[in-house]
Amino acid sequence: MDKPTNRRRYTAAITAVTTAVALLLIGFVVHSTHHGHARPLSQRSAAARAADGSRDLPAVVAPSPSGSPAPVAPMPTDPTGPDGAVQSTENNNLALTFDDGPDPTNTPQVLALLAKYHVTATFCLIGQNVAAYPDLVKQIVAGGNTICDHSWDHDEQMAGKSLSYIDDEITRCADAIHQADPDAVIHYYRQPGGNWSPTIVSEAMRRGMTPLDWSVDTNDWQTPGVASIESTVLNDAVPGSIVLMHDGGGDRSQTITALQTLLPTLVTKFQLQPMPTTPVSAAPSP
Ligand SMILES: [Zn+2]
Repeated sequence: MDKPTNRRRYTAAITAVTTAVALLLIGFVVHSTHHGHARPLSQRSAAARAADGSRDLPAVVAPSPSGSPAPVAPMPTDPTGPDGAVQSTENNNLALTFDDGPDPTNTPQVLALLAKYHVTATFCLIGQNVAAYPDLVKQIVAGGNTICDHSWDHDEQMAGKSLSYIDDEITRCADAIHQADPDAVIHYYRQPGGNWSPTIVSEAMRRGMTPLDWSVDTNDWQTPGVASIESTVLNDAVPGSIVLMHDGGGDRSQTITALQTLLPTLVTKFQLQPMPTTPVSAAPSP
């Protein structure tokens, strides 16, 4: 009688110890994981946000059953992204977006490639670069591309700063764009690093700019290699996707080489269009 009882006690004791060790290990792993990946808001990058799962969001827009070009759609309003920023074109098009320009080396090459394949895109401009290269802004606008304000000096820590500071960052860039090209219409605002806040979103909207996030992150700013940029776009892009690339912020030769291969493929699969610029208020009322 004793032996089975002792064995049960022994087994119970072992089970308790094993469970305790397992719980401790789980706690340690969870603790380590959180502290290993979480970064301060100021350091949150596109890569960090992709790691947070933005890349895994399901496609918001289903492919067109007929495959025909989508009609002109109103500017997106669906607040699917962080703090209400849009993450889909809300039509069947694919939108390429180029951030951190204009840049005297990269932007003309990107514009030439887009023109070669008769497509247009959205350019998120940094105010300081706009002031330095106003002629490039004119070229971007003349090419039929959509313009997006990307703040005056790309402050990724803006979310923690005052309303007047945020207002100045957005307005100063917009003023520089209008000074470069009085005909430019700024339909969108994109927050540097994707570090949105409700205040940033509302300040952009107050100026008639739709807050623009993204759904496909090429991480091209980290120069991951041409093949990586290509495969990210080819694997992740679906109708309605907003693809994040860069024509500024450093050597973008990988991005440009990837575009040379991607564009002929993408034009056979998607309608490549800039982000829509038709205001919702312009839509016919019922
Ligand atoms: Zn940027």
